[in-house]
Parts: sequence; C-alpha cells; structure tokens
Amino acid sequence: MISNAAVYRGDKTFSLEQKHVSAPGSGEVQVKVAYCGICGTDLHIFLGHMDQRVGFKRTIGHEMSGTIEAVGEGVDGLAPGDRIVVRPLDHCGECPACRAGHDHICHNLKFIGIDTEGAFQEYWNVPAHTIHVLPADLDLSHAALIEPLAVACHDVSRARVRPGEDVLVIGGGPIGLLVALVARNAGGNVAISEISESRLAYANKLGFTTINPKTSDAAEQVNDLTGGKGADVVFEVSGSQPGVDLMTDAAAARGRIVMVAIHAKKPDVDMFRFFWRELELFGARVYRPEDYEQAMRLLAEGVVECSSFITDIQPLEDIQGAFEALTQNPSAIKSMIQITRNDT
Ligand SMILES: [Zn+2]
Ligand SMILES: [Zn+2]
Repeated sequence: MISNAAVYRGDKTFSLEQKHVSAPGSGEVQVKVAYCGICGTDLHIFLGHMDQRVGFKRTIGHEMSGTIEAVGEGVDGLAPGDRIVVRPLDHCGECPACRAGHDHICHNLKFIGIDTEGAFQEYWNVPAHTIHVLPADLDLSHAALIEPLAVACHDVSRARVRPGEDVLVIGGGPIGLLVALVARNAGGNVAISEISESRLAYANKLGFTTINPKTSDAAEQVNDLTGGKGADVVFEVSGSQPGVDLMTDAAAARGRIVMVAIHAKKPDVDMFRFFWRELELFGARVYRPEDYEQAMRLLAEGVVECSSFITDIQPLEDIQGAFEALTQNPSAIKSMIQITRNDT
C-alpha cells in the first residue's frame, strides 16, 4: 500500500513522500491515522536537538488517533474500522524493569515515533499490544489529546494527589495545563506558575489561580495562598533552573515533588530543603495502560475543553509550515495535523 508520509530530513525540514507500507505482520495492526498532535518532543526533533537518536529518514509523531485498517495474524479482539489510539511504547519483556512489571520504563524501551516509525503518515503498522479502543462518541481530533493527557494522569497518580490538597504546577505549557486539570479533577486546589502572559491568560480562563514569578515572589505567593504552609504537591514542568528552585522553596513540610520536565542539563537541587522539610521527590515517565484508560475517561467526561485547547488543525501537506509556526508562536496550546479524512 502507498502511504503519504512526512519524513524528517534534518535541518528543520520535512519532506512529503510516498512510502510503501507492507501488510501488517504477525501481532501487528495497520492503522489509518486520522489526527496527530505536535508534541514538544517533536519540536525538539525538528530543531535538530535529537538528530543522533532520530536520524534523517524518520517519520515521527505519536499523539495520534485513527481507525484500524487491517489486522495481522494472531491479533484477537481488534477489527478493521475500530476507532483507536496507540500507546507508543515498545518494551523488551526481558529486562529487570519489565520483569518487575514496570514495562513502561523498560531498560530497552523503544518510543514509537521517535526510535521507530511514527504517525505523521496515512498508514502505520504498530504492535497490537499498543492499541486502546476509543469510547464510541469520542471525536477523533479530541482523541489525539489522549497521549499527552495520559502523561498528566501518570504524573498525578505518581503524586497521589488527594482531595483538598494544595497543588502547584510550575510551567503552564500543554503538559502543565493537563497536569493542572487532572490534579483539579482529583480534588486538588491548583495554582499554576508561568512566565508567558498568553499562557497565564489561558490558565486564568480555565479557572486556575496563576502566579507570574517575573512580577512577584512565587514562593511567597504560594505561602499566602496556603496559609503559610506551602504546596502539598509540586509538579516541576518548566525544565528551568528557576523552576527547580521554586519546587523546593514552595513545598510544604513532607511535600511531594514530581519531576515531569526533561531538563536539558542537570539542575541544581536544594537538597537542604529535602532535609529541612522531609520532602519527597518522584520521577514520572510516560504512562501505564491504566493511565491511557483514565485519560480516555476524563476526555469523555469533558475534563479538557478540547475546542480551546486545540488551537489549530492543519493538513499533512502543511506540516512544514505548522512546525515553523510553532517555533515562532509560543501562545499556541496544541497544534494538530490532520493526516486523513475521517470517513468511517
Ligand atoms: Zn508527546
Ligand atoms: Zn524491558
């Protein structure tokens, strides 16, 4: 089968190519991709920060939705026409992490759409174990938000946010906003710290208390909001040194901090605050199958206002322009590429 695909060729360039896609192999499913969102990681790839890992002939993309086109041998319970999303992780099944039941952080984890072929193409073969079938009434463009929403579900579950707890999210980009929405849904009183005025305005519109560390002392403001106690849970989503400083300064006694951001270099962490306040620090990476199930549920319940969260949808032919625009327009929340028409 011939599939229109965007191929990353290095140097901020995608080429549109027609690829030959073989029939799905044993244990594989062929997906007709409907929508694929542009992730921060995709932007990093576009900007050339991950060339060593990705190379110059990869079709990237992983925040997708679509329908099943065909199933390979030995695939049960899935059929052509099923509306689905892919959880883009492929694990080895043999390493200590896999054997301990933590296959989402497999020592040899392959991230589909970074380490292997991704979803910015019409027809895409993936392992059947990555498939989640969508609820019947979920719009396919909205469903392309399930992957980043599952990240947020995993982050919030790592922190075990309880009703009534004070939560601080540092960084109000797409993932920070989704973490804030999921934490609020779990009963947290959520404040967002962010320096971009347009992102602050959107966070305000969603009903969050906002803090701008450029115009006020953020830790002091968190103290004011929490009766001098500090935040019970802090999510570091900014990937910045000031964010890492704030995460310890703003945490309550026995506060839980979740490291969500991927920092480009090792940040300085105030270990003294860990001693002084008996803080706890949690790593959080991608998601478990149950995070995907929760993300589908929350999306169906309307926890994310998709119509404002998805700021633009552009056709696959315009992927180059969509990426270029995103590097120049930080006020966009989620840009999406429509890969094929939804004709099911
Ligand atoms: Zn992503
Ligand atoms: Zn493994």
